[in-house]
Amino acid sequence: MKSTDCIFCRIAAGDIPCAKLLETDEALAFLDVNPLTPGHALLIPKTHVERLDEMTGSLAGQVLRHLPSLARAVQQATGAPAYNILQNNGQLANQAVGHVHFHIIPRAPGDAFRFNWPAAQYAEGEMEAMRQKILAALE
Ligand code: 5GP
Ligand code: ZN
Repeated sequence: MKSTDCIFCRIAAGDIPCAKLLETDEALAFLDVNPLTPGHALLIPKTHVERLDEMTGSLAGQVLRHLPSLARAVQQATGAPAYNILQNNGQLANQAVGHVHFHIIPRAPGDAFRFNWPAAQYAEGEMEAMRQKILAALE
């Protein structure tokens, strides 16, 4: 995808306005235009990278180092006693904008945000087999 076709690249370039919260040479944070809860914010790299696994560790560090201070500020401003960090990769995982972004979603008692968490169990030996596969892929 060309960066001119990407809504978040256009926001990062200043071509589309945003409610900016933080900006460095590498990172930008702004309020989500359609918040799940008031104060819902997004943190993005300014360069176009579609998915988290396509980021270098260095770029991830330059972006993610702002997550704790952003989470503190959003909590303080909203009075939210809790928050979720959400990061979707791929259409199947509900990624609508193909430019890496981290959602900071403040939570309040009784808010409407829900997610399904259908926790399962491994059969005998399956967990270790999976661990070995992931270890091999990490090498
Ligand atoms: P995703 O489903 O890709 O993880 O989430 C994309 C998010 O980007 C959505 O929460 C959506 O509201 C937000 N979004 C999409 N377009 C814009 C925009 O032009 N400006 C802002 N501030 N947020 C946007
Ligand atoms: Zn982009």
